[in-house]
Amino acid sequence: MISESFEYHVPKTIEEALGMIGEFGDESKVLAGGHSLLPMMKLRLASPKHLIDIGRIGALRYIRESEGQLELGALTTHFEIESSSLLKSKCPLLPETAREIGDVQVCNRGTLGGSLVHADPAADWPAAMLAVEAEMVARGPHGERKIRARDFFVDLMATALQSDELLTAIRVSPLPARTGDAYLKLHHPASGFAVVGVAVRLTLAESGSIGEARVGVTGVGAKPYRAEETERLLAGKSPTAKRLEEAAAHAADGVDANSDLYASGDYRKHLAAVYARRAIQRAAERAAGR
Ligand SMILES: Cc1cc2nc3c(=O)[nH]c(=O)nc-3n(C[C@H](O)[C@H](O)[C@H](O)COP(=O)(O)OP(=O)(O)OC[C@H]3O[C@@H](n4cnc5c(N)ncnc54)[C@H](O)[C@@H]3O)c2cc1C
Repeated sequence: MISESFEYHVPKTIEEALGMIGEFGDESKVLAGGHSLLPMMKLRLASPKHLIDIGRIGALRYIRESEGQLELGALTTHFEIESSSLLKSKCPLLPETAREIGDVQVCNRGTLGGSLVHADPAADWPAAMLAVEAEMVARGPHGERKIRARDFFVDLMATALQSDELLTAIRVSPLPARTGDAYLKLHHPASGFAVVGVAVRLTLAESGSIGEARVGVTGVGAKPYRAEETERLLAGKSPTAKRLEEAAAHAADGVDANSDLYASGDYRKHLAAVYARRAIQRAAERAAGR
């Protein structure tokens, strides 16, 4: 199908983009990589009268270190993340997650910010953002504010970002000492999206027991979540195979699981436990330097 007609705008700066969002309000949509928005427009699930293409705002596209944190501009593409040597050495979970997304075209055009704001329940990034406790930086008419990843994802395709705000950057902390991380997913055989995806960041104490584990899960429910019971059961325990399995079994506790033609809710919950165990094990091995 062909989308409804719209006016196309190309702001050169963040301020100009915010001015346009303010002027056109609910009749406008921001365009980043277009790999989620354009299909929705063609299906007429979205019909903005004004399309604000932020793709040429260079100030939204970077990966850098700042005040001990790693900062990624919202327009950074999946491919740029996958191939960043800074991220490979300081936050390898992000390149590892990027590698699991879509195909070459999707990776070259799709952006981290676009994926997070779109908040598809089967998207990969949200699990990783939860595991590294990322901070989203939003700019709107009243200035800048920061939103923790666990507060950002509100519901099915709904985030805490206001309609007059632009997501400008994502901040994550680098990998601490004795820490490993991992992202594993079951690809949907047709779309490649995550049927279930689990991201883990795990720190070992000097004794070799688990100091802290953060487990982000995508694909199971309407929105991504932290598997808090799994995290609680891991803290302070030695990372034996039995302990990891017992903790991972709770990876979908209390979640109202999605069900579709490919995977029932019960199957998704089973997958969450299986993928959580594998991802926790891999993160623990990496934390131990194996
Ligand atoms: C064939 C195919 C396969 C895919 N496979 C996967 C997969 O395996 N895993 C996965 O996670 N994703 C997958 N995707 C989705 C892909 O990652 C998209 O690129 C991504 O979800 C959206 O990013 P975008 O830059 O294209 O955003 P757009 O489509 O341009 O925008 C998406 C939404 O975010 C809003 N938006 C974008 N940027 C901002 C911003 N900075 N501030 C405020 N609002 C903003 C837009 O207004 C729109 O509502 C796939 C897509 C396709 C087409």
